[in-house]
Amino acid sequence: MPNDATTDLDTDVDVLVVGAGISGVAAAYHLRTQCPDRSFVVLENQESFGGTWRTHTYPGIRSDSDLFTFGYRFKPWTGTPIATADKILEYMGEVIDENDLDQFIRYNHTISNAAWSSADKRWTVQASVAGSDEPVEVRARFLWMCQGYYRHSEGYTPTWPGMDSYEGDIVHPQTWPDDLDYANKRVVVIGSGATAATIVPAMAGDAAHVTMLQRSPTYFATGRNSNELAEMLRELEIPDEWTHEIVRRKVIFDGAQVAKMSRLEPETVKAELHQGITDILGDDYPLDPHFTPTYRPWHQRIAFVPDGDLFHAINDGNASVATDEIETFVEKGILLKSGETLEADIVVTATGFNLNVLGDIAFEIDNEPMDFAQTVTWRGAMFSGVPNMTWVFGYFRASWTLRADLIADLVCRLLNHMDAKGVDVVTPTLGDDAGMELKPWVEAEDFNPGYIRRGIHLLPKQGDRDPWIHTQNYVEDKETLPLADLDDGSLHYS
Ligand SMILES: Cc1cc2nc3c(=O)[nH]c(=O)nc-3n(C[C@H](O)[C@H](O)[C@H](O)COP(=O)(O)OP(=O)(O)OC[C@H]3O[C@@H](n4cnc5c(N)ncnc54)[C@H](O)[C@@H]3O)c2cc1C
Repeated sequence: MPNDATTDLDTDVDVLVVGAGISGVAAAYHLRTQCPDRSFVVLENQESFGGTWRTHTYPGIRSDSDLFTFGYRFKPWTGTPIATADKILEYMGEVIDENDLDQFIRYNHTISNAAWSSADKRWTVQASVAGSDEPVEVRARFLWMCQGYYRHSEGYTPTWPGMDSYEGDIVHPQTWPDDLDYANKRVVVIGSGATAATIVPAMAGDAAHVTMLQRSPTYFATGRNSNELAEMLRELEIPDEWTHEIVRRKVIFDGAQVAKMSRLEPETVKAELHQGITDILGDDYPLDPHFTPTYRPWHQRIAFVPDGDLFHAINDGNASVATDEIETFVEKGILLKSGETLEADIVVTATGFNLNVLGDIAFEIDNEPMDFAQTVTWRGAMFSGVPNMTWVFGYFRASWTLRADLIADLVCRLLNHMDAKGVDVVTPTLGDDAGMELKPWVEAEDFNPGYIRRGIHLLPKQGDRDPWIHTQNYVEDKETLPLADLDDGSLHYS
C-alpha cells in the first residue's frame, strides 16, 4: 500500500527528494546504497510512485525510448524494449520493494515553498497534504529536485478560433477521461510527436476513423519491438544483469552512431527512415509532406514506432494523416487552411506540455525570492548561488534515466565528500567566470520542441566553459561527471 501517513514523517532530514517519478526513485535507491548514513524522505504529490507513467493514461501509453536505457543501470530490464506505462510502473514497483524504499516515500504531499536559511544551514519546505487542512513542514540539509520538466496537472492546449462552437469533446492526453467512449467515433488527433503516434494506432481499431492532424511532420523510425542482441543473450541463458549491461552499451553505441550520421549524412539517415515507412505504406504513399520534416533527423527526438503500428493503421484505412493548419474549429469539426473540413466527434490535443521549472515551488534564499532564470548551472546539475540543491534534468534525445543515475552518483559523491571535509554547505560559485558569455539552457539550433521554446526564459543559463556547460550528451557526461573535480574552486564549501 502506498504510504501517505504524515504522523511518522521525519521532519528533519539530511536530504529531501522532491518527486517519486523515475528520477526520485533513483535518488532514493542511490542514497540508500551510496550514502547509507544519510536520513532522507521523498515527498510526492500524486497518490503513488511513477510520475509521468502514472499521470498519463491515454490509450496505448508507452515509452518511446528503449527500456534497457530508460530502465535503471542497477535493475535489469527483462521485457520488450518499448514498454507500456503499466510495465514501467511494475518495474519501478519492484525497485521500491526490493530495496525497501517505501518507508522513505510520502505520497499526496505537494510542496509549495522552500526557503533556505544560511543561519540554520537548512531548507525549510512546506507541503500541503491531500485530505488534510494541516500543512507539513520538513527541514532538510539538502534538496534533491526530481520534479520532472512539465506541470502534471494540466497539458498545453493552444487556443484556436471557434473552439467554443465545437460540439464534440476536446481531450488532452495528459488528462484523459476514464470514461471517454470513442467506439465508432470520428477522432482527430492534433499533433505529430510520439504521443500522437501512440494514440492514433491505439484508437484506430475501435474508432470509426482517426486522423492525425499535424502542422509539421516528425521523423519516425520503425522496427520490431524487440532487441536481437537481447534475444540472443537470453537464449544463451546469459544472466539478466549481463544482458542488461551489454544491451545498454549497444543501444548507447547505436544511438551515438545515429546522432553522428544525422549530422554528417542527414540525407542517408532520412532515406533509411523513409524506407521503413515505405516498406509498410508502399511507394505511392506521399512521404512529403506527411513524413518529411524541414529539420535534419535528430534535431528533435526521433520517435520510434514499434512494429510500425501507426503505419499499419494508415495502411488498413483506419487512420490517416493531414498535414495542414487549423483555420478554425466549427460545430462539427475543424476547418483547415486548405479549405478542407475534418469532421470529428472527439478532438485529442496532443500538443505538448507546460514547462514547469522546479515543481512550481516558490523558492527563497535568506528571505529573498529566487529566480532560477538568473542562475547558471553547474554541470547542468546545480545552480550558481543556490546552496545545497541539485536537480535532475535528463536527456532529450537519449533516455532520461541515464542522466538520473549519473547525477545520483555525482550527488552522492558530493555528499560523501562534504562529510569527509566536515562541511555543511556547498554552493556553486561563478568567481572569475562571472563575466563569461551566457547561453540558453538549450540552444535552439540543437533542440527546439515547443515546450522548450515557450519556457526557455524560465530556465537557468549555461556558460561557455566547464563546469558551467550543460551538454545534453550522455556519451560525454558518462566520462566527465564521474571524474568531476569537486575541489576545482567552482564549489564553495562552508
Ligand atoms: C508520455 C510521455 C512519454 C515519455 N517517454 C519517454 C521515453 O520513452 N524516454 C525518455 O527518456 N523520456 C520520456 N519522457 C520524458 C519523461 O517525462 C521522463 O523521461 C521521465 O519519466 C521523467 O521522470 P522524472 O521522475 O524526472 O519526472 P516525472 O515523471 O515528471 O515525475 C516527477 C514527479 O514529481 C512530482 N512533483 C512535481 N512537483 C512536485 C511538488 N511541488 N511537490 C511534490 N511532488 C511534485 C510529480 O507529481 C511527479 O510524480 C516521456 C514523457 C511523457 C510525458
